[in-house]
Amino acid sequence: MLDNPILKPLPFEPQEPVELGQCCGCGNEVYDIDECIDYDGDLIHDDVFCLASYMREIGDKVG
Ligand SMILES: [Zn+2]
Repeated sequence: MLDNPILKPLPFEPQEPVELGQCCGCGNEVYDIDECIDYDGDLIHDDVFCLASYMREIGDKVG
């Protein structure tokens, strides 16, 4: 007999956040629950500090 997925009880355990990688701004782990930007495969928290650090890292400072 086939299982009917609709009749299965929903899992109520809180989901563990999944680690996606490392933030290229602050160097901390990025989890799927975080606000995050994928820029050409680089993960950066959607945070002013992280984005600014990342831009300083990849860009050339002029002036
Ligand atoms: Zn970060």
